[in-house]
Amino acid sequence: MGGQAGVQAADSLRSGGFPGSITIVADEATLPYQRPPLSKDYLVPTGHLAALPLRPASFYTDHGIDLLTGVAASTIDRHAQTVTLADGTSLPYDYLLMATGSRNRSLSCPGADLAGIHSLKTITDAERLQRALSAAEDVVVIGAGFIGLEFASAAKAYGCEVTVLEFASRPMSRALSPVMSDWFSVAHERNGVRLRLNEGLSHFERDNNGHVCAAHSMTGARYTADLVVVGVGVIPNDEVAAQAGLETNNGILVDEALRTSDPRIFAIGDCASFPNSLTGSRIRLESVQNAAAHGRHAAQVILHAADNYEETPWFWSTQGSLRLPMAGIQAAGDTATVIGNPETAKFSVLCHRVGRLVAVESVNAAGDHIAARKLLTAGLGPSPEEAQAPGFSLKAHAQQASLDPA
Ligand SMILES: Cc1cc2nc3c(=O)[nH]c(=O)nc-3n(C[C@H](O)[C@H](O)[C@H](O)COP(=O)(O)OP(=O)(O)OC[C@H]3O[C@@H](n4cnc5c(N)ncnc54)[C@H](O)[C@@H]3O)c2cc1C
Repeated sequence: MGGQAGVQAADSLRSGGFPGSITIVADEATLPYQRPPLSKDYLVPTGHLAALPLRPASFYTDHGIDLLTGVAASTIDRHAQTVTLADGTSLPYDYLLMATGSRNRSLSCPGADLAGIHSLKTITDAERLQRALSAAEDVVVIGAGFIGLEFASAAKAYGCEVTVLEFASRPMSRALSPVMSDWFSVAHERNGVRLRLNEGLSHFERDNNGHVCAAHSMTGARYTADLVVVGVGVIPNDEVAAQAGLETNNGILVDEALRTSDPRIFAIGDCASFPNSLTGSRIRLESVQNAAAHGRHAAQVILHAADNYEETPWFWSTQGSLRLPMAGIQAAGDTATVIGNPETAKFSVLCHRVGRLVAVESVNAAGDHIAARKLLTAGLGPSPEEAQAPGFSLKAHAQQASLDPA
């Protein structure tokens, strides 16, 4: 399927010497494009809108890859090894890669379908939002996750009043350590964003034209809104796989080699739930790195060049002037050591579990992030005691561990 993971898999199959035919089925009508800029560069007041393609159109023809856009894969016949598309076309396969991504979770509260309430997933959503931002005054964001806070930062740049409602006690709480989460709370408040934590949404209010005019929270507060963005997480697109009898549970279940319960079918990217040795459990990740690495890996398994998937996950978010790259996976109960200077917005949080480095979150500290990825992959992270020593440098630690040239 035609997103980050699917296109990468096709690319890696060809560059790895796969001789057979490759077809990408993409339900969006455009050339497959990058999603991260949709909540960042596309939305800045000076931004210009053009989808950033994952590969130029010539890539597909030059590499003998058939790209079918604007048509969905509807059903899989595993016995016959065919995929039927919404237009009735039937495609045979030796290997099938499910790379169907995820869709935004929607709200079901009263008023959730009013005009002026948006979500953000596609280039069409981003175009609509950029137009809406130019005219908006009071913006309410539901959910203080990455997309919600990236959008909140963009809305501030337009001079809007911005309120973010979040029922958890801290922003980005699923992905970030409490230390980093709290630091971002302060940073957004300083930027003029009203961050309302422990405050879930109750319902939306409509004006006389059927447009949203306010969001009401569970605490009884009313927030004026002429534009609302809902960023409350995603749901994996696993229905086509489930209908074909593949095992699913919050995503398509795959083994260590990213194979589904049918060895001829792989699942990669946002839609795949895979076993992870870092957490000792299944995870589903929503990131470019995960999608691209899955795509590369599944291609190598098909080419008999790889076995188990063992990549260190990493992710980034950009919120206004703050760049937040993260490596590894933190969890509740990890200890946190801060290195660098949070006051100057250039620092990292090192998360340890039972003395072992498991994740590093950085703000405007690209060097720390690069070193962290190498150290996490090699399992050579500093101990908490080493990290707490005065003047400790992650980059220097990686150099001493011979992972980084001096
Ligand atoms: C606004 C936004 C900002 C983001 N920012 C970041 C970021 O800063 N950093 C980061 O690491 N990640 C970011 N992400 C996440 C990242 O883009 C995704 O994790 C990544 O695109 C997942 O790749 P994928 O191939 O699994 O899914 P996608 O790239 O979403 O591709 C899946 C494609 O399959 C199509 N499809 C689904 N079902 C079918 C079907 N039955 N037939 C045919 N086609 C189908 C979908 O429409 C979609 O086009 C962001 C995502 C969004 C939406």
